[in-house]
Amino acid sequence: MILPGHIAAAVLCHRYAAADLPVAMAASLAPDVVDKAVYYGTSLSPSSRLPMHTLWGWFGTTLLVALIGLVCARAATWTYAWFLSYGVHLLCDSGLVGDDLPLLYPLVSYELNSPPFPLAYLLDPATWPWPKLIAEAIVVAWAAWIVWRQSVRGQGSARHTNVARP
Ligand SMILES: [Zn+2]
Repeated sequence: MILPGHIAAAVLCHRYAAADLPVAMAASLAPDVVDKAVYYGTSLSPSSRLPMHTLWGWFGTTLLVALIGLVCARAATWTYAWFLSYGVHLLCDSGLVGDDLPLLYPLVSYELNSPPFPLAYLLDPATWPWPKLIAEAIVVAWAAWIVWRQSVRGQGSARHTNVARP
């Protein structure tokens, strides 16, 4: 998935699994932010999906968040939200939507192909990754519907509150 889908996935983690929203959002964006910055910004990585789109990135950052959470007395809440939302990010980038992840790199060799710049494949309709785009649209529409519904309910209860208080 791309940015809208990962933002939407964090919203769904918050809504359906009670994950802390700011931590879930950070976990959902971190793999792409770090990997794209390292690959396109420094050329130190062989792929735009390394090192964060691996099991080591997932578990290592979860451990780091747990340690920071211990210091801030929020270990359980933050670790759960980070682990869940990061895992959902990897799931949304996985073979389920026609992508490939270097989960066990460097223990397993992968065919590492990265576009010349982020989202370059979207410029040519012949190369559009339809399974990924369809999954993206569904997840974004689902999250948008939830946010819209909460907004409408919030307005309704605010009106009700105003009526109840003279
Ligand atoms: Zn990703």
